[in-house]
Amino acid sequence: MRTPAELLLELSFPQRCVLCHRFLGGEEHILCPDCVKNLPPAEKDLKRGEFFKRCVSVCSYEGRVREAIHRFKFKACSFYAEPFGRLMAQVLSRELAGQFDLVTYVPVGPLRFRLRGYDQARLLAEVVGRELEVPMLRTLTKIRNNAPQSSLLTAAARRANVQNVYRAVNRGQWAGKRLLLIDDVVTTGATLSEASRVLLSHGAKRVFCGTFAATPKP
Ligand SMILES: [Zn+2]
Repeated sequence: MRTPAELLLELSFPQRCVLCHRFLGGEEHILCPDCVKNLPPAEKDLKRGEFFKRCVSVCSYEGRVREAIHRFKFKACSFYAEPFGRLMAQVLSRELAGQFDLVTYVPVGPLRFRLRGYDQARLLAEVVGRELEVPMLRTLTKIRNNAPQSSLLTAAARRANVQNVYRAVNRGQWAGKRLLLIDDVVTTGATLSEASRVLLSHGAKRVFCGTFAATPKP
């Protein structure tokens, strides 16, 4: 039996599935079982880009997934990191079990961080690290506010846009280690490649990547 206070809370903050918006019981924002079952599958063993060993994604960036990621990044829905990150942890523990020592992420630039108020990839990395009981660490900082990758059409333009935008930080804590690099979406792999290149050139032993979604093959 709910107390009047709990009932009021539930009416004020009804819990919905983050993809289909169906009302759910429960205490937190989740993905409903139907949506989890029907997630558009990501391309298997995606090899877009270079330097990193493998990139594992939970689902394909289309339909409701695409809309939800848009809300996650641009409409202040930072709490989506919880259900998205948990699903990533499940898939990553299955696909890359025992292959990484630290979880890290591709950071947003200072300008976008100020506008958005959070770094969505960091939030995902925190949930993944917590769920898999692997330490999460910042390894990169973005030193240039470049154009959003989504505004660039060709793979070459996307590669050029991310060149030398990341600098390694906290190197003493991760040199010689195997890293799992988290981002929200992989498209051409240009961002993950450049971030991996910087990490490897500063002593990372190996880099694997994990994203929530992967754009469908062009
Ligand atoms: Zn749903």
